[in-house]
Amino acid sequence: MADPVLDIRGISKHFGGFTALSNVDLQVGEGERLGLIGPNGSGKTTMINCISGALTNDEGEILFQGRNINGMPAHKRTRLGIARSFQIPKPFASMTVLQNVAIPLEYAGRREGRRSIDDQAREIVESMRLGNLVDTSAGALNQIELRKLELARAMAASPRLLISDEAMAGLSGNEVDEILDILFLVNQRGVAVIMIEHIMRAVMRFSERIVVLDAGSKIAEGLPETIVNNPDVERAYLGE
Ligand code: ADP
Ligand code: MG
Repeated sequence: MADPVLDIRGISKHFGGFTALSNVDLQVGEGERLGLIGPNGSGKTTMINCISGALTNDEGEILFQGRNINGMPAHKRTRLGIARSFQIPKPFASMTVLQNVAIPLEYAGRREGRRSIDDQAREIVESMRLGNLVDTSAGALNQIELRKLELARAMAASPRLLISDEAMAGLSGNEVDEILDILFLVNQRGVAVIMIEHIMRAVMRFSERIVVLDAGSKIAEGLPETIVNNPDVERAYLGE
């Protein structure tokens, strides 16, 4: 990989005596689409929390665009260009869709020239296919609309890396395709994407490369077609 946007070297994370991540390496290239999979409890969300700064890794190092971000608080990582969507969306329910995107935009402080925050927010909302709901309060959205809003809020920070944590869980087949289209669109704009997903059809279609975690360790890494035929991966999932 020529120039990784994210370079994780041997990170570990312990919760008391329990090891959630054990000496994991992970690289993501500029503009790459990476699938991160593994059975429940294998450490995927913990990994994302260590990357975003919600948690601090106990060992190892995390470099973002060549810069060591170990110990850096989450809001600074956001400003550097790391964005994540949460498994359970938590928008401001009483605010409109537009306001929910305007807030992180304001916060990211990346005002583009003279364009107002509202104009920029509107553009993001439209590109996330929520244009018909700009003035709807977030509390009135259904599941897929909430997932799209979650991605719109993440995109407000103009990330170089977007981490999508199970943005498709519980959605119908057509809805999964809608979210996939949005993530492809984001990626076409040059944003590297880590997709964490249990829906194999979606991960296989989306990912250029897949990394598999099991019980806090990386057990496989490679092209989607080699991962599906990997006996260690099959064993990890059968044991679930
Ligand atoms: P995944 O996202 O792959 O399902 P997680 O990263 O959420 O897995 O969890 C990995 C393991 O770490 C699980 O056994 C989980 O119970 C444990 N864990 C996660 N967060 C905490 C925490 N804050 N305190 C204690 N244990 C945790
Ligand atoms: Mg998880």
